[in-house]
Amino acid sequence: MEDLIIIGAGPAGLTAGLYAARARLKTLLLEKLSPGGQVLMTDWVENYPGFPDGISGFDLVDKMRRQAEKFDLVIENQEVSRLELSPEKKVVVTDKGNLETRALILTSGATPRKLGIEGEELLIGKGVSYCATCDAPFYRDQEVALIGGGDTAVEEAIFLTRFAAKVHLIHRRDELRATKLLRERVMALDQVNIVWDTVPTRIVGDTEVKGVDLKNVKTGKTSHLPVQGVFVFVGYIPNTELVKGQLELDKLGFVVTNNDMQTSVPGVFAAGDIRSKILRQIATAVGEGATAVFAVERYLESLK
Ligand code: NAP
Repeated sequence: MEDLIIIGAGPAGLTAGLYAARARLKTLLLEKLSPGGQVLMTDWVENYPGFPDGISGFDLVDKMRRQAEKFDLVIENQEVSRLELSPEKKVVVTDKGNLETRALILTSGATPRKLGIEGEELLIGKGVSYCATCDAPFYRDQEVALIGGGDTAVEEAIFLTRFAAKVHLIHRRDELRATKLLRERVMALDQVNIVWDTVPTRIVGDTEVKGVDLKNVKTGKTSHLPVQGVFVFVGYIPNTELVKGQLELDKLGFVVTNNDMQTSVPGVFAAGDIRSKILRQIATAVGEGATAVFAVERYLESLK
């Protein structure tokens, strides 16, 4: 029996792991892929304190992992297929067997949202991408479309200009959602063409992306934009499949917790992007991971 199982090794999970290992809790951190979470898809992080010149997403999470492992945190590659969560018992079913734990912290984050339009599924990996950091170098001197108007979309549009000849940023409104600093930066770039009030209706191509069909939501006018790549950044969906029906979720599907990261089931905590909250940042994920472990310690004490 573990004291604590943490599910997901992004910044929230790695911080929880660091604190739990230092608190000498018998802890297991489970991750289905490699540690890092969405930060791995971030080229450059400028707003995480302590790195005045910025740091690559890869390097940041690599440092977090190494720091936690220095205190003997055990990180295992196991995919969780089922969770049985009750006040009395917590069972984690993975591809390698059943694990029991006294307390659990969910830090499994969120997944990029898809557009759900024709051609999208067919062309994933053939020109449709949800990660500019991973795929931008394929589009050197080519034209790409980028869908979305939030911080992620704008950051990735700026990153894409290092490679692509032209980035057409397609946004469904006439104002970007991204923060002012990012808005100013992207609007100053000649390589970025912002297409306002417009949504994509179809991604065109059979074996590779040939272009995207667009519709102006104000005028109804349709058009076709020939591009070789389509990057989609329209928000995230929480990875809460495993806990649906077991934990209280908000109307968007994020896990509801109190200020101590406690979910609706005693002994089950959540931290990072999976939580219902107003700000999803590396800095907030890290603080929540630490808070969750403090709350776990108090919970474990209460069991004695
Ligand atoms: P987001 O803030 O939810 O923005 C999603 C964008 O996609 C919005 O502009 C939205 O349009 C658009 N959109 C949503 N559904 C769409 C659809 N079906 N078709 C077309 N457009 C659609 O998501 P995000 O940019 O990924 O950011 C997620 C969180 O991470 C935010 O809290 C953000 O501040 C944070 N973040 C921070 C940083 C940073 O601080 N450097 C970097 C990345 C992300 P509307 O604007 O019309 O709703």
